[in-house]
Amino acid sequence: MIPVGGITCCLSAAALYLLGRSSGRDADVLKSVSRVNQLKDLAQLLDAASKVLPLVVAVSGRVGSDTPINCEYSGLRGVIVEQTAEQHFLKHNDAGSWIQDSALMLSMCKEVPWYLDDGTSRVHVVGARGATGLVLTVGSEVFEESGRSLVRGTLDYLQGLKMLGVKRIERVLPTGTPLTVVGEAVKDDIGSIRIQRPHKGPFYVSDKTIDQLIANLGKWSRLYKYASMGFTVFGIYLLAKHAVQYIMERRRHWEMRKRVLAAAAKKAGQEEGGLNGKAENRSESTNKDRMMPDLCVICLEQEYNSVFVPCGHMCCCMACSSHLTNCPLCRRRIDKVVKTFRH
Ligand SMILES: [Zn+2]
Ligand SMILES: [Zn+2]
Repeated sequence: MIPVGGITCCLSAAALYLLGRSSGRDADVLKSVSRVNQLKDLAQLLDAASKVLPLVVAVSGRVGSDTPINCEYSGLRGVIVEQTAEQHFLKHNDAGSWIQDSALMLSMCKEVPWYLDDGTSRVHVVGARGATGLVLTVGSEVFEESGRSLVRGTLDYLQGLKMLGVKRIERVLPTGTPLTVVGEAVKDDIGSIRIQRPHKGPFYVSDKTIDQLIANLGKWSRLYKYASMGFTVFGIYLLAKHAVQYIMERRRHWEMRKRVLAAAAKKAGQEEGGLNGKAENRSESTNKDRMMPDLCVICLEQEYNSVFVPCGHMCCCMACSSHLTNCPLCRRRIDKVVKTFRH
């Protein structure tokens, strides 16, 4: 029997520990990043640090673009616009009732070149859609009900579907949003600076300040570590419990075997005494048979002829089994006793 619960707990603990460690590491990396207080300083910083490139920096400013997108539904102006359309319908399930369900029909995303502006200078941000922490504002959420018609209704009924309508959601990164970006700063040939995903290291685009990001990561790291400790303790408890149960079961097994063997030997002695040592050469073979006596461990009289469900142990006769609620070997509850027939 494998202690599945204990092993699962210990594996979860290991996974949580790794998560906690990676969050902690990310927090340390963020702490070591150069912070740029004013964007106009970034150019100087890049020139000074040209030997230690790539330079990972944290910059803050408001989102801006020369060619912003005018959103179709919400009327917002944004630099990243994501549109999704979901079809909502009722489905006839096997139980005969209608349940609501939805399916994604289309998903579209547009992005225009954009920058962060803090009043002193501008820095372009590239590839923000793949960054950690980017949350788009829900600009609009419209539900277009599908029209009802007799033909349509009949068709839906035959297919086991009832169309409800289409939900269109528009998510936007609006211009003017204050953002903090942590990434690699690069200067191109014409001298303009952009921030992009570093080859190695963090890439954050977030509406939180860098101190909030560090605090959050630290909080998660601690949470993961506490959870990991909890799972470790519980896992070890389960494994220890399993081990103790196993040892106790072996011990009970061994003691019962001793008792059964003693009883069998006594019985054999009586029989042999009664037979008056009639067949000396036969006794050896019968002794051998009695190495594994089939006696019931309770009464030590009858041969065992019952099996316990669910543990599957066979060690008692039917008469003794009827008085038991727990298996004498493993102490598990007996749900059912099944008679076995032997030849
Ligand atoms: Zn018995
Ligand atoms: Zn048992």
